[in-house]
Formats: sequence, C-alpha cells, structure tokens
Amino acid sequence: MICTPLSERTIKKTRKNHRCGWCDEQIDSGSTGIPYRSYIWEDGPVSEWMHPECRGALNRASYDEIEEGWTPGDFHRGTTDNINDDPLPDVWRPSISRKDEYTYV
Ligand SMILES: [Zn+2]
Repeated sequence: MICTPLSERTIKKTRKNHRCGWCDEQIDSGSTGIPYRSYIWEDGPVSEWMHPECRGALNRASYDEIEEGWTPGDFHRGTTDNINDDPLPDVWRPSISRKDEYTYV
C-alpha cells in the first residue's frame, strides 16, 4: 500500500470534535496539541486527527502492524494492541456473530 503524505502539523486547539484516526474515540473540541495529518490513501484524500498518545503508539508500531493500513478503532487508545487480536469476552459470543456489531464501553 502506498500512502502519499500531503501535510502534517500539530493543531494548537481543535475547534470541533473529531474521531481519533487510531483508536476512534472522540477528540473533544478545545483539545490542545493534537497531531493532524492529511494524505492520499487507496480511496482518496484522508484527514486524520489523533490523540497525542495515539500518535505515539503509531510511531512505536512495527511496520508489520501497519503496513496494510488500519481502521480507526483497530487499536486501543495510546497502545499498539490491536483489538482484533484480543479474545472477545465469552459473554458476548452466543448471541452476536458479527464482530463489527460489538460495542466497547
Ligand atoms: Zn486515540
């Protein structure tokens, strides 16, 4: 996969809420020091905000973990722990079959 960077900077203070491009948790408006970047991926241009700790996790991630790209929410906030590698709680197994219907609370 080829990622073509367009721009990268740190947002001093966000004016709107954003979803983190790593953990998919909300980044509240008014957050400070938020890493932002834009790039061209397979489907076109992408604008991406991240928690500072999530950008740190991205920087720590091995090439194998991210070379094929990822979907926001694949990783826990601030970590390189891919949720797809975690065993799902047994209590959720019987009634729900599609993984994308799980809600982490
Ligand atoms: Zn995050």
